[in-house]
Amino acid sequence: MATNRTFTMLKPDAVEKGHIGAILEKISASGFRIVAMKLTQMTRTDAETFYAIHKERPFFGDLVEYMTRGPIVAAILEKDNAVEDFRTLIGATNPEEAAEGTIRKLYAASIGENAVHGSDSDDNAAIEGAFHFSGRDIF
Ligand code: UDP
Ligand code: MG
Repeated sequence: MATNRTFTMLKPDAVEKGHIGAILEKISASGFRIVAMKLTQMTRTDAETFYAIHKERPFFGDLVEYMTRGPIVAAILEKDNAVEDFRTLIGATNPEEAAEGTIRKLYAASIGENAVHGSDSDDNAAIEGAFHFSGRDIF
């Protein structure tokens, strides 16, 4: 995968609250092209694998429960400087620390239920995109 791509998930809380349209509008208006997208639900094994880096953290059990409790929107996004620019667009992990106008400031409820995922590096964007998509589902 080219390094001008990142991977995102609109997490179960965002989907439950009906925020898919508003968040995708903000992503598009910020110059990202959607190159892959689907509504899906992570299994327990999916979530444990995706977030394996956090498995020793005290919040890991709650994180797996949260990420598996309902559907998510998974997507690969393309833009110059995609990883960094998307992290700027979503804001800090804790919405109380997120900048005004960021997706997490607007739509996240807490540091745990924070509406959206964004890859933190080009390498992880490639790994995370490939976790959810392959071949002809990527445009
Ligand atoms: N998380 C949590 N409590 C914390 C830190 C993180 O519940 O103290 C959750 C939250 O959903 C976060 C995810 O674990 O988005 C992954 O954490 P990370 O530190 O990678 O934050 P992110 O990269 O999503 O900003
Ligand atoms: Mg992270």
